[in-house]
Amino acid sequence: MLDNIRIVLVNTTHPGNIGATARAMKNMGLSNLTLVAPKHFPHPEADARSSRAEDILESAIVVEELEQAIAGCHLVVGTSARGRHIPWPLVNPRELAAAVSKSIEQNPDCQVAILFGREDRGLTNEELHLCHMHVHIPTNPDFSSLNVAAAVQVISYEMRMALTTSEQAPNWGIDWDIELAEHGEIEQMFDHLESTLVDIKFLDPDNPRQLMTRLRRLILRAVPDKVEVAVLRGILTKIGRLVKDK
Ligand code: SAH
Repeated sequence: MLDNIRIVLVNTTHPGNIGATARAMKNMGLSNLTLVAPKHFPHPEADARSSRAEDILESAIVVEELEQAIAGCHLVVGTSARGRHIPWPLVNPRELAAAVSKSIEQNPDCQVAILFGREDRGLTNEELHLCHMHVHIPTNPDFSSLNVAAAVQVISYEMRMALTTSEQAPNWGIDWDIELAEHGEIEQMFDHLESTLVDIKFLDPDNPRQLMTRLRRLILRAVPDKVEVAVLRGILTKIGRLVKDK
């Protein structure tokens, strides 16, 4: 269960924070750490701050691009210390843990990625728009930004509480019959949607405004499954043919 969860640190600057993250994860029984373009890694400071969680650092996967870190994931969650100008489905860590627990119960192979941002400026809007939902740790509104490893600690604790106790998680949607679409399938669908909208002249590539962001939010909010994505792509293919035949 806890193995279904992947902690993803994006562009971390301080190696000490990577070590502290490994320690926080190991304390809570999580083990899958992915690092996207860390500034310094491996690094003695990371080893030192990990205490005795070096095994997590040793098995950490290091990639250059965020896309590589979340490929194959069924649920992608972004963490955020503050509100953004386009609101997105937002949960607190306890609600997130309940949702994740339900998804894993329904599909034991469900892969979940939780993304943590840079120390100085968090995740970019573009990165946040890849996510099904965002999680914010409730804080003092005047001082809302936790150290990144402290944020990993809080979220990992809630995951542990939800996934290792027998308490029934609150209902998250209805029991699902079809596996959730993976990140890559959803992104291909968005590419297809975007090019179709350009073809039918609904989207002006020179003045795209927030159209794709709003459509991403609409569709990701539904957490689409494989068949739903296939149906959407089928519709787009049909529209594409009609436009070309004209
Ligand atoms: N100044 C940055 C804060 C970055 S804190 C900003 O304004 O976005 C570094 C990372 O720690 C964040 O990207 C997020 O992953 C995590 N984090 C910090 N505080 C958090 C909070 N209150 N809720 C959720 N994640 C938080």
